[in-house]
Amino acid sequence: MTDAKDNESGHPGIHGFWDDVRTAPHRCLVLDYDGTLAGFHVDRMRAFPIPGVVDLLERVRDSEGTSLSIMTGRPISELLELLGDLGIPICGSQGTEFRAVDGTIRTHELSDKQEERLRRAEREANDLAREGRVERKLASVALHTRGLDADAARREEAAVCKAWSEDAFEYGLECRSFKGGVELRLAGVDKGTALSWTLEGAPENTLCVYLGDDLTDEDAFRAIDGRGYGIKVGGPEEPTAARGRLADPHAVKEFLETWLRATKAE
Ligand SMILES: [Mg+2]
Repeated sequence: MTDAKDNESGHPGIHGFWDDVRTAPHRCLVLDYDGTLAGFHVDRMRAFPIPGVVDLLERVRDSEGTSLSIMTGRPISELLELLGDLGIPICGSQGTEFRAVDGTIRTHELSDKQEERLRRAEREANDLAREGRVERKLASVALHTRGLDADAARREEAAVCKAWSEDAFEYGLECRSFKGGVELRLAGVDKGTALSWTLEGAPENTLCVYLGDDLTDEDAFRAIDGRGYGIKVGGPEEPTAARGRLADPHAVKEFLETWLRATKAE
């Protein structure tokens, strides 16, 4: 018998959640990275997983009946640098690149026009923002404002987003906010479409549980649509489409510990 109870630490506040997890014939656990498994850092290449979480992820990976994967806005190469290669599926760059367990990577193709627009967007952002804050990714350009005071961050984000948005639609692109910046990215391709694609390949009675902290995770929460639970990582002041909530990455760590207890072979 499991000893996971509704009042246990790491509980997302959904009545009967652990019973559903325990009794599901198949489980799919999908985790965001920044703000979910790792705290934030001004130097984004120093945002490492909180202590002990990698060990827990390896144990969930090796456990029966749970398919574990990561879904991040970062390029997959960055994620691997910070988290290590756990041999699990990864979706990176806001749903535009997928890495299978065997290491093969599949990516969305950009049109020549989109590629040209993203190159121009990178120049625009570099002209309007402080140095070293612009990141070109596979299918997007991001402006990072973490570490700036709130007013300066808002000003830079607004100026850059305005320049990008003037003709983004014509290129099938859109400017979206994330925690700590804005990003010009493919319209209609997001963590929600990536999660739907992942679930298409899963057995029909799979229970999907998705954890994430950011605005970009809201697409995934909505995509679950009756096939499981979205769990927002963050305080009650942050509105969400998710059914459950965990306070921070430390609560996520406790959640993973409880997950292992709830799903261990009886
Ligand atoms: Mg995040």
